[in-house]
This record gives sequence, C-alpha cells and structure tokens, in this order.
Amino acid sequence: MSDFDLFTTSDDHEELRAAVRAVADDKIAPHAAAVDADSAFPQDAYDALRATDFHAAHIAEEYDGVGADALATCIIIEEVARACASSSLIPAVNKLGTMPLILGASDDVKRRYLPPVARGEAMFSYGLSEREAGSDTASMRTQAVADGDDWVLNGQKSWITNAGVSSYYTVMAVTDPDGKRGGNISAFVVHADDEGFTLGEPERKLGIKGSPTRELFFDNVRIPGDRIVGAPGEGLKIALRTLDHTRVTIGAQAVGIAQGALDHAVAYVKERKQFGKAVAEFQGVQFMLADMAMKLETARQMVYVAAAKSERNDPDLAFFGAAAKCYASDAAMEITTDAVQLLGGAGYVKDFPLERMMRDAKITQIYEGTNQIQRLVMARQLLKK
Ligand SMILES: Cc1cc2nc3c(=O)[nH]c(=O)nc-3n(C[C@H](O)[C@H](O)[C@H](O)COP(=O)(O)OP(=O)(O)OC[C@H]3O[C@@H](n4cnc5c(N)ncnc54)[C@H](O)[C@@H]3O)c2cc1C
Repeated sequence: MSDFDLFTTSDDHEELRAAVRAVADDKIAPHAAAVDADSAFPQDAYDALRATDFHAAHIAEEYDGVGADALATCIIIEEVARACASSSLIPAVNKLGTMPLILGASDDVKRRYLPPVARGEAMFSYGLSEREAGSDTASMRTQAVADGDDWVLNGQKSWITNAGVSSYYTVMAVTDPDGKRGGNISAFVVHADDEGFTLGEPERKLGIKGSPTRELFFDNVRIPGDRIVGAPGEGLKIALRTLDHTRVTIGAQAVGIAQGALDHAVAYVKERKQFGKAVAEFQGVQFMLADMAMKLETARQMVYVAAAKSERNDPDLAFFGAAAKCYASDAAMEITTDAVQLLGGAGYVKDFPLERMMRDAKITQIYEGTNQIQRLVMARQLLKK
C-alpha cells in the first residue's frame, strides 16, 4: 500500500449510495420523528432494509449474504443515519453482533448463525458491557462454568442495543476466574429463548430512542459447548478486535447524522429571511456552514480510510478505527449543535428534525468505548512503536 492509496471508491459504491439514499428518503425518513417520539423499534425501516438487502450487507456470499465490503457497509450505515440514527443501528448492530463470529468462530458456528441474519430472519446483538464494567471490560463479572460438554452462564449485561428484537446475542463471560486478567474470558452465542435468559425494561434515553437498549440477565443459562465463539480464553481478544472494525461503522453513523443536520441547515438558511434578506447571506452564517462542511468532510475521509484498513485487516486498524470514531463523533456533536443554532428557535422544537439529530449524535461519543477510551487506544498504539 502506498501512502496515496488509503482508500478507493468505485462506481459501485456511488450507485450503492444512491440506492440506499432512495430507500432512506422514501421509507425511513418519514417514520424517523415518530420512532423517536414513541421510542418504537423502526419496523418500517427494518422491513425496507431487508427488502433491499441493506440490513446486514457485510455478511459474505458463502453465508447467504451479499458480501458488501467495509466501505460499502459504512456507506449504507451513513445514508440510513442521515435519515434516522435509530434505524442505522439495524445494519450497524447486526455487524457488531456477528463480527466476533466472523473473526473467531468455527465454520460450523458461522454456518449456523450467519445465514439467518443475512436472510433477514434474525438480528444479532453484542453483550460486552456490564453495570460495573463499562470502560474496564476485563473486570466483567458474568461467568460461564463448564458442566460436562455445556457451559452454565450467570450474571448480567448492561445497555445492550437491540435487546429484545434480536434473536441471538454474542455474550462475553469469565470462564477462568483465577486466570490472567483479560485472558480468562470466552465468547458464546446466547439464543433469545434460552431458559433462564431474561431482559430488563427498555432504558429511557436521550437519543436513538427507536433502538431498544436493555439489560440482559442470565440465571443458570445452559449453553451447549458448540456455541462457543473461538477457543476458551479468547473471548475478550475477539470482542476488542471486533470493536476495532465496528468503531469505523460508528464513525459512519456519526457522519450520516452530521450530513443530515448540515443538509437541513443549508436548506433552512436559504429560505429564512431576517433584516430583509436570507440569513444565508450573512457572512457570520456562511463561516459557520463552511466550518461544519469542512469538519464533516474530514470526518468522512477518516472513516473511509479506516474502512479500507478494516477491509484489509491492516495492523494499524486499531489506531485508525479509534481515530475515525472519535473524530467523526466529536465532529457530529459540533455540527448538529451548530445546525440547531442556525435554525434558531425552529432548531429547538420538534417541528424540525435538528434537535433529534443533536440528541442522537451524543451517543456516538459514548458507545463502543467513550472518546476518552478511544484516545487511550490511540496513545497506546503510538507508545507501542
Ligand atoms: C445507548 C447505549 C447503547 C449501548 N449499546 C451497547 C451494546 O450493544 N453492547 C455493549 O456491550 N455495550 C453497549 N453500550 C455500553 C457502552 O459501550 C458503555 O456505556 C461505554 O463503553 C462506557 O461505559 P460506562 O457507561 O460504564 O462508563 P464508565 O466506564 O463508567 O465511564 C465514565 C466516565 O469515565 C471516563 N473514563 C473511564 N475510564 C477512563 C480512563 N481510563 N481514562 C479516562 N477516562 C475514563 C469515561 O470516558 C466516562 O466519561 C451502550 C451504551 C449506551 C448508552
């Protein structure tokens, strides 16, 4: 790879963008306000994404998927998020939930679980965080104890996206309590209907209200041995490598939310008149728009570079995945806040989608590792050299 060959987009990527944008504008955007107001799972979006194979496009053709590359997957998530951030968590979390299998599972496990997701018959969630183990994932307390060929799972997971609508959950648990910290964790596939597996009430959230977030509880849940993902002790390594890849998709989500806000702001300032002219004619407003667009394009370039690195599984993906997520989410927070500002009072009320976009942007600075943790990841990579 040369320094100038960081990523390439093809005509296929641009055709894909146009196709996803059409679905998002026609079938997803019209429901975005209601999904937010009612905290309702975006079923219309899920149906539209399934009908067009955009719901889990990252799954390879050999597992009944369409085999979208990492950049194409980012473009899908970006374009859906431009219309509705909650809906973009359908393709994003299907990737997050299945990525541990793609990276670490046996072919048998992949053949069992990837095709139903690819066909749109099941969704997959990812259970790493616990109430007392958020940033410090290695201190998790959920345990799986071997019992014959099975494992018996006890504990809880917190803030799990799409819990309740997913059929499957990748769950990380301590399997060797006396083992080396981090190297004593394994990953398992839990089924929604496993006996002893229950869910908490949906969290009441600031944003992404259409995406259910719930706790998972495990009370002597018996997991057959053939549902382990990778070897015993590899769970946290697989979970963290998953995040290297999927942080890029959170960056894409942030770019999409910011693009949606900028598009609305540009349209508004051209129409809105004060002091006898369109507010777009004031240089103070133009400078704000220019800064927003500049940050947005920088974020998009970083996300696409990181996507190319994810596709190639480059050794510096950990740095670039963290940098792309961190930069894009900080940019999205600034851009959506400025977009609310540019609409004045109209930005603050629910007649326009800007206040929703600002609320939705916030989560991208928090999940899949807060932006403080992204900075730790980046610094660790720098200091390792
Ligand atoms: C809506 C939503 C959806 C989520 N979805 C999922 C999901 O699907 N699956 C899943 O496993 N998890 C999920 N999460 C959990 C999310 O990843 C965690 O909330 C996040 O990693 C932060 O953990 P915490 O909330 O425990 O914060 P804490 O770790 O308690 O952090 C509190 C503050 O301390 C800072 N901090 C912590 N450690 C350090 C440090 N070493 N240096 C500097 N600052 C530090 C943090 O940045 C933060 O500002 C979700 C969370 C939310 C809110």
